[in-house]
Amino acid sequence: MRELRDWFLENRREFPWRDHPTPYKVWISEVMLQQTRASVVVPYFQRWMALFPNVEALASAPLEKVIKAWEGLGYYSRARNLHRGARQIVENFGGEIPSRREDLESIQGLGPYTVGAILSFGFRQRAAAVDGNVARVLARFFLIEENISKQAVKRAIAERAEALLDAKEPWVTAEGLIELGALVCAPKPRCANCPLQGQCQAFRHNRAEALPIKNSEKEVTDLRRVVVLVEVDGQVLVKKGEAGKVMADLYEFPYFEMDKGQWSERKVIQAVRERLGLKTGFVEKLQQVTHTFTRYRARLYPIRLKGDAMPEIEGHRWIAKERLAELPFSSGHRRILTR
Ligand code: SF4
Repeated sequence: MRELRDWFLENRREFPWRDHPTPYKVWISEVMLQQTRASVVVPYFQRWMALFPNVEALASAPLEKVIKAWEGLGYYSRARNLHRGARQIVENFGGEIPSRREDLESIQGLGPYTVGAILSFGFRQRAAAVDGNVARVLARFFLIEENISKQAVKRAIAERAEALLDAKEPWVTAEGLIELGALVCAPKPRCANCPLQGQCQAFRHNRAEALPIKNSEKEVTDLRRVVVLVEVDGQVLVKKGEAGKVMADLYEFPYFEMDKGQWSERKVIQAVRERLGLKTGFVEKLQQVTHTFTRYRARLYPIRLKGDAMPEIEGHRWIAKERLAELPFSSGHRRILTR
């Protein structure tokens, strides 16, 4: 794979996690990169490193601060796993990320891809890191016409990836495959610019666009929610997502699932009285927000209400309006605030 190596050394993008990579930097960046594009991850990564520069700092931080630093990246279970994983590393490995595969695999939230990336880029060992992008490149390169979501096919791809690694600097090939998947062999392949074109089976058989074969997209469930922003003397009612649920540890405004049709203001006020025990009056409707998370697409219909008392409500708290920004919020409800 000399072609890949040469191409990568010439075209690699500079990112803060590629500057003197350490196992910790690799771990954090790879988990973030599972969420979104590299350019979006950069400011998150820099802020994270300033807040939690090493495993000990992450392990000793309060969970709420960790969740707050993750705010906007989605899939908050990954932030919780990083926090738990850091505590495990402190307890079991004296605060040093271990360099053996079996030890890494024992850490919370570390899947085969992240383990491979830490071994390869962080410890410069011979290990492949096969994520969806690399699987796509290899399915095309080797003309794998099977479903790449199947475990047996995944294993076969991982073996092929390992066999391709450079003898002296395996991490260069491993990262080169990732970069090629991001820049050239993207979902819409740019074969004309590809250093592997001469050896690529899918290109030869004109199958690049048709591969890889994978499971059809997961079904998306539509949700419709009326969201209430109840304000009393400058204080607003919020609730924290329950542990184990999708929005665990994130704050949201109270909301009610709507069945079909819009809810009238009267119906909202009635629901607030019945379910939260609050007497309120209508102030205004706010702009609708659509929010997609895991396999849901939620349409949020926010409405501002004014109350005259602040009783304690189980699972909820009152907070001054100007302090809302300090809380980690789900991104849909955060967008209600910033509209
Ligand atoms: Fe991907 Fe095309 Fe390159 Fe083959 S030639 S690896 S399909 S970009």
